[in-house]
Amino acid sequence: MFVAEIIFTITEKNDKGKNQFESFVQDFFANLLRNGQILGNEIFWWEKNKLKAVVKIPRPDSLENRYFTKWSKNDWKIIKENFAEKALISILNKENLNCEFPILEREKYLYFFTNAFDDSSPVCAGKSGMAIPLYELPLNQRQKQRLWAWQCSYIEYDKVWLGVDSLEIPMYKQLATHKSELAIEGIKLCRMLENKTGLPTYYYLMRYWGRQKGEKDRLCPSCGNKWRIKKKPRAKGIEKFDFKCNGCRLISHIAANLEGDINASIGEYQN
Ligand SMILES: [Zn+2]
Repeated sequence: MFVAEIIFTITEKNDKGKNQFESFVQDFFANLLRNGQILGNEIFWWEKNKLKAVVKIPRPDSLENRYFTKWSKNDWKIIKENFAEKALISILNKENLNCEFPILEREKYLYFFTNAFDDSSPVCAGKSGMAIPLYELPLNQRQKQRLWAWQCSYIEYDKVWLGVDSLEIPMYKQLATHKSELAIEGIKLCRMLENKTGLPTYYYLMRYWGRQKGEKDRLCPSCGNKWRIKKKPRAKGIEKFDFKCNGCRLISHIAANLEGDINASIGEYQN
């Protein structure tokens, strides 16, 4: 993840023009966010006739026009023609600029993985586990927005699971069972992406509470088959998971909490 600073030097001198410009910039950022070109919330402020913004971006070239949607192209045109003489973009954290990023065409698998503290794309490269930005996926804008909306829901469920005691179990069921509303939509999105890319795309099921005995032998919650895989030392990407069902396209971990069998049945195969 990179942090970019964007400096717009505007031609408008009065506050009305500045307010209008700010609202265009907010629309522009909202479109970039839904396309995966920026991540999380932007920060912006005025310094005389300059509007400065700081945004998180997934790749150093994420803000290039070639990734813009037709809406951001339109916003950008309006900004350039009516308000800003120029816009300067610079990357603030340069240490990882030469890092190798996954290339979709070279991957064999993809998987969905996200959590409350992660605002990068939920689509991960099978080999490295690195996120693949939404704008690089062969999906139309409506499909990308659906994926983005699913990720927002996942993050909210995860936050509530972590923070609200009274909702701990219903939220956990959403995250850990393959028949929850959240998982059904996520699995549909995996199928959609798999159809478009031709790459098997796996859905991650969280597992927190497990069994003191037999946790390693737990079966695929969907088909009931064995799905344990042996991890290699220093495994990464899809190989770092303990469970993987190729038929159902599901992956999971051994539970983090093995102290008692309480709640262990959530997410297990039911005969
Ligand atoms: Zn299965």
